[in-house]
Amino acid sequence: MSSKEFKNYPHLSSFSIEQIIRDVGLYSIVQISTWSQKATFQGKTSALSVSDDVKRLYDLLSISKPVNLPCVKCKKEYPFVQTNELGINKARAGMVDTSPTNYSFFSNTMMLNPDIENERSLNEIANTCQSVILKELPFFVVELRCTFNPDHKIRCAFSLESPTIDIETERFYREYLLKKLKAYDQEATEETLSAKDQEKLDYYHWTNHTLYLKKVGQSPSLADMQFFDLRKYQKILKENYHELTRAIGLFSAGVGIGSFVYLRRILERLCEDSHQQCVSFPDWDEGKYKSSHFNERVELLEQHGVLLLPSELTPVKNKLYSVMSKGIHEYSEKECLELFPCVQMAIELILDKRLEEIDREAKIKEMVKQINNAT
Ligand SMILES: [Zn+2]
Repeated sequence: MSSKEFKNYPHLSSFSIEQIIRDVGLYSIVQISTWSQKATFQGKTSALSVSDDVKRLYDLLSISKPVNLPCVKCKKEYPFVQTNELGINKARAGMVDTSPTNYSFFSNTMMLNPDIENERSLNEIANTCQSVILKELPFFVVELRCTFNPDHKIRCAFSLESPTIDIETERFYREYLLKKLKAYDQEATEETLSAKDQEKLDYYHWTNHTLYLKKVGQSPSLADMQFFDLRKYQKILKENYHELTRAIGLFSAGVGIGSFVYLRRILERLCEDSHQQCVSFPDWDEGKYKSSHFNERVELLEQHGVLLLPSELTPVKNKLYSVMSKGIHEYSEKECLELFPCVQMAIELILDKRLEEIDREAKIKEMVKQINNAT
């Protein structure tokens, strides 16, 4: 893997517990940085506290508050609570510690009097934190139960691993260390590094305080949980609803390009629905529409007062279709998998707007009926 890509993986702390269970796909990489944060204890003593990512990992191991999740059995969203204890010692609030081993376990522990200005010492602490977590938790399962019926369960299995170091980086690092020993002058050696070598060095250091978290199993499957959420769109997509579930099913199974094909078909169908609204307009130029590209078609529809894309999508209006097409023709599987949640969201925004319109029309119809009946 290119050492440049590594920083792009989303951080665990950027997800809520709910999102980790409900949205993070199987085998997608979430990074946990074990690099500690500088802090002060009781406003005066310099201290270190574990990183936000480690704190979130701890939250995941001992979920303290109920989490709202779709229960596929109840067919409704319910609060879920954790059922299993993961054998992690409970942290004591405001606890202080001096051992990097103990400290790395607790989310609210502060490490007092660490050598905060010494990069090497911080590196060692971060590395200890990484290895302790890895030793204790190479694999774990989080189990939650529905508060409506305790037999309704959601289980997620996770694995933790450290990023791999390729032979080239390994070799570079050995040579770099040797040179450094010979020169005996760290400053001078580091200054002479080329940009490419600096990147390798950064990557090497980064692997020492980073963990990859992967969801390796889930029951009910992510797709089942999401399908339950999606059923409301059946009203709009009708017999083509299965294209949406197929797109998400493929994404959940790690198939990127295939999932894009279905999303694009849905967008095309939605566009066709809007088109059908326009064909009977007296000033509608069917020939012009037929010979236009997607973005121009959207423009033509808008000129006739039919909006395909809701205003929230204005910033990506001219790019949405081309991103989906590139997904099919140019992007790699991995790129498609990374982009899928965004594209899915765009499609859902269009569908949500249509649902709103249908609701509104029904309400107005009902209101008119009631008022007319009253007189
Ligand atoms: Zn339930």
